[in-house]
Amino acid sequence: MENKYNHFESKAVREQVERSQFREHSVPLYLTSSFVFDNAEQARALFNDEADGNIYTRFSNPNNTEFVEKMCLLEGTEDGYATASGMSAIFSSIAALLRSGDHILSSRALFGSTHQLFTEIFPKWGIETSYGDIDKPEAWESLITKHTKLIFIETPSNPGLDIIDLEWVGNLAKKHGLILVVDNCFATPYLQQPVKYGTHLVIHSATKYIDGQGRTIGGIVLGNKDLMDKIRFFCRHTGPSLSPFNSWILSKSLETLAIRMEKHCDNALRIAEYLDYHPELESVRYPFLPSHPQFELARKQMTHGGGILTFVVKGGLERAMSFLDNLKWLSLSANLGDTRTIVTHPTTTTHSKLTETERLAAGIKPGMVRISVGLENVNDILEDLEEALRATKLVEA
Ligand SMILES: *Cc1c(COP(=O)(O)O)cnc(C)c1O
Repeated sequence: MENKYNHFESKAVREQVERSQFREHSVPLYLTSSFVFDNAEQARALFNDEADGNIYTRFSNPNNTEFVEKMCLLEGTEDGYATASGMSAIFSSIAALLRSGDHILSSRALFGSTHQLFTEIFPKWGIETSYGDIDKPEAWESLITKHTKLIFIETPSNPGLDIIDLEWVGNLAKKHGLILVVDNCFATPYLQQPVKYGTHLVIHSATKYIDGQGRTIGGIVLGNKDLMDKIRFFCRHTGPSLSPFNSWILSKSLETLAIRMEKHCDNALRIAEYLDYHPELESVRYPFLPSHPQFELARKQMTHGGGILTFVVKGGLERAMSFLDNLKWLSLSANLGDTRTIVTHPTTTTHSKLTETERLAAGIKPGMVRISVGLENVNDILEDLEEALRATKLVEA
């Protein structure tokens, strides 16, 4: 792909598949399950990877190609494949690359379904996972066995907002010849580009900030051509492809990713600063708050602190739930990365399938509340949070 523009925003706005004969400005939706061959020889060549072009939408489609090519430009990767969800991107990538007997080393703090995949589903096919703790980086090396093939991490993690040193984990993977996979969903390529530190595969739940408006489910995996060829082969024949309609939405959404992330991060920082040391809270966590244990590292590898913050209310689980019930208009929902601020109680919802011990090890306390800060006026968001804290007040003034 020739380099027509250098900056993130321009790539996100301008990258486009070839125009049709109608010279449309915005890319149309290609709702077609298959494509027509010029002749029998072209069909043969396409099926045998001797020519470029579309055959069938499970393999490729112009809308998917545009979304993938744009994401490649933004993450700095060679190649990619768009999947029906973030989970199908994670499942397909690992299932394509590992076999029975292989071992995964993963960060302990993970998205709930990823944790289920590693502990309940992959073991059915003889793929086992060990978990490394963020505060004991020296112990990770001792978890690597001769069967370890892949390191999987989330940074910042969901919902604990742990920050893993991408440079350190990149070097660890290189030293042991392992494939490094980073779930970059919370940061988006606007805040951090893991391939700069030796990451081999970058995965997104496009459902979150990439869509950014809570409309679609989607996912993508990005990486170098060698790994992507294996993943594409797996996906072509197992069928987790993203629908062209969702690709179209997601590619349009990327046009506003930079400006949305600026505002999400601005609002989140303002709220984190306001809530820090609030008498009704035990603690507040946000990567760009100096009280975050990895504040310096976050500042080193991220351009902004992200749109998610968590806090632990005084009074534990019951107080957390009554706090949620006292919010007037902020959304109680399980999604994140939406224009609308969403408040979640991880212990009883997204991470309820983990045991109490697993949750505590992943930093999820019963009183923890996760906020995905939206694009509303920050003062309105603060007022709803403050009033719900006041309505459930425990501490005497
Ligand atoms: C939501 C999420 C996923 C899963 O994505 P889906 O699109 O819901 O399948 C994976 N990782 C993280 C960090 C997420 O937040």
